[in-house]
Parts: sequence; C-alpha cells; structure tokens
Amino acid sequence: MSQAKSYAALSATTPLAPFSFERRDLREDDVNIDILYCGVCHSDLHTAESDWGPSNYPIVPGHEIVGKVTEVGSKVSRYKVGDIVGVGCMVDSCQHCSHCAADLEQYCDNGPVGTYGAYDLIDGTLTYGGYSDHIVVREKFVLSIPETLELSKAAPLLCAGITTYSPLRHHGIKAGDKVGVLGMGGLGHMGVKFAKAFGAEVTIFTRSESKIAEAKKQGADHVIVSTNEEQMKAAAMTFDYLLDTIPVQHDLNPYLGCLKVDGTHILVGLIEPMEPAVHAANLVMKRRVLTGSLIGGIAETQEMLDFCAEHNIECDAEMINIQDINQAYQRMKKGDVKYRFIIDMKSLKE
Ligand code: NDP
Ligand code: ZN
Repeated sequence: MSQAKSYAALSATTPLAPFSFERRDLREDDVNIDILYCGVCHSDLHTAESDWGPSNYPIVPGHEIVGKVTEVGSKVSRYKVGDIVGVGCMVDSCQHCSHCAADLEQYCDNGPVGTYGAYDLIDGTLTYGGYSDHIVVREKFVLSIPETLELSKAAPLLCAGITTYSPLRHHGIKAGDKVGVLGMGGLGHMGVKFAKAFGAEVTIFTRSESKIAEAKKQGADHVIVSTNEEQMKAAAMTFDYLLDTIPVQHDLNPYLGCLKVDGTHILVGLIEPMEPAVHAANLVMKRRVLTGSLIGGIAETQEMLDFCAEHNIECDAEMINIQDINQAYQRMKKGDVKYRFIIDMKSLKE
C-alpha cells in the first residue's frame, strides 16, 4: 500500500478538504502514475454533491488525469517508467461481455468501474480519482498521451474530449451537416472544435451574450442566445444534430423545434429527473430522434487523443491550485469557466 494525498468530499454538503488514504499495491497488470494535472468536470461537482443520488463518500473526484508512470507491474507491456499517460472516467470493466469485446467498455453489461466513487472488481475497495498525488490503474485503462499535445492542456480530453468526440463520430457528422452545441462550457467548447474538424457548420447555443465573441474565436460559425425568443424562433427546423451539454434541468422542447425532419438531439449533459416533459408531437410529427451518449471506449479515447495531436485541437484551460477547488466549483455552477479548470497537482505537494 502507498499513502496518497488528495482532496475529498466527505458529504454532499461539506466543501472538499485535504484527505489521506491508501492506494493498493501494484497488481501484475497495474501502472502507478504520478499525477501532474487533473481537469475539473461538472460530473465531479454532481458526484461530490450527490446530484445523481447518494454518492459513496469519501469522494475523491477527478477523471481527467495526466501524469507520469513511476512503476509498472510484472506483466505490463505497453508502458514503462517515465511515459506520459492519461486516465479518464473508467478504470475497469468486466472484459467478457459483448460490449467490452466491441471496445465499448463504457456500456459494459456489468457496469464499468468509475475512476472514483465505484468499487474495484477484485478487492471491492472504493475507487479514488485524480484530485490526488498518484493513482494505480490497470494497464488496459491507461491511455498514451501523444508527445505533441501540450501536457498542461491535455487532461480535459480524457472526459470532455471523448464525451463530445464519440457521439459526433457515432452519428457520422460530416461536411455540410448543421450541428448545434448547447452550452459553452467544458464539453461544449470541445464539441465545437470536433464538429468543425469533421467539417460541419456549427452553431453554439448559449445563455451568455458575453460568450458570443469567444464562441466565434473557437470556430463556431454562428451563435444563438438561447434566452432570446426571436433567435430561437428563427432557428426552427434548421439543424441536423444538437449536442446538448447543459448540466441542469431545461426544457428540451424549444431545442427539438430547431431540428429538421429526422434531426437528432444527443444528450450528454446528465440531469435527473428530466423535466419538463418532452412533447411527443415534437418527436412524432417530424420523426426526430432523442438519444444520449456516455463518454467513449478506451480504443476510441486513444483515437481521439491522436486526432487532437494531428489536428492541433486542445482544450482552453484555466490553471488552478487544488486549494482553490471549492471556489472553482462555485464558478462552474454559474457557468463562469473558460472553459475548463485544470488543477496543477504540484499544489497538492505544497
Ligand atoms: P460545464 O459547467 O463546464 O458547462 C456547462 C455549460 O452549460 C455552461 O458553461 C453553460 O453554458 C451551460 N449551462 C449551465 N447552466 C445552465 C442553465 N441553468 N441553463 C442553460 N444552460 C446552462 O459542464 P461540463 O461541460 O463539464 O458538463 C456538462 C454536463 O455533461 C454535466 O451534466 C456533466 O455531468 C455531463 N457529462 C456527461 C458525460 C457523459 O458521458 N455523457 C461525461 C462528462 C460530463 P452557457 O453559459 O454557454 O449557457
Ligand atoms: Zn467528466
């Protein structure tokens, strides 16, 4: 066992605070990673505050991890000490169901093991995430970070990146498609970059007038202020796809109205319960599709990282110290992030 330093939520109502715990000894197929950077995802906040039902405390959040390999198990073949690697939202899955066999570990029939707040398949211990100084992860769930990616900005690709890349790939977004991205936060701003890279005409839907100029800078062709009824009306029946990253309850009906016949609304923002209700006529009368998507498999995550390296795609980030995490959560709640907080893990050692 090795002692780990971290920041944890001990309950839904207490701020994150310093927390020590033990990481397991390396198994033969494990990699030990010294964490350099960890992105701050809205899911960290949802989990810390039990937005999706009671979480398994203590919660050490963090599933956008980049670090350096410091030790490998006897059967590890893909990584060696000194390699720069990443870990995303999953650290294991059953490996024998049809979805694991199809590189869709996120849809594992037996449930993927989350990087934090889940239970290890072998010893049943609680998993602790990346707001910590090191992590021990099964080799199969470790990604290789391409050398040309700027390390300090690569971490958010492990969740915000793959969660937007995967559905856009799955639905075959291509040149000429009209794609709307709802919410310009961590996921949303990556969604714009990928949809543009795939050749689509991209519109950002934001509540914030102040984000118009930035959305254009990031490559969006158009911006719609979603609180402006005139602009929403003018957008009726014009989109092939909408990628919805909004992290709170919101009325889907006005957005569905923006889709063409056969248009597809893809939920990645995760809110329970979904209210207000979707009007069936908004789907039935135009044969529209309402669907969702969960992160991406390990092979596709590696593909996404390599794609980012090849196309110079990176996250827009604001670096913080771990001591500022509670303040960062408050800003995230207000939509005041440009566009991902990344924790410099050096600060944990101070
Ligand atoms: P962020 O907080 O970074 O961004 C969300 C954006 O949504 C905000 O910047 C804001 O954009 C918009 N928004 C916020 N509040 C409201 C509101 N009240 N009404 C309308 N729009 C709002 O979150 P993330 O990008 O990190 O995560 C987004 C969601 O995706 C979360 O629910 C998260 O849990 C989920 N998620 C899902 C995954 C999956 O696999 N499906 C994986 C990772 C995350 P603007 O100011 O432009 O309106
Ligand atoms: Zn995430």
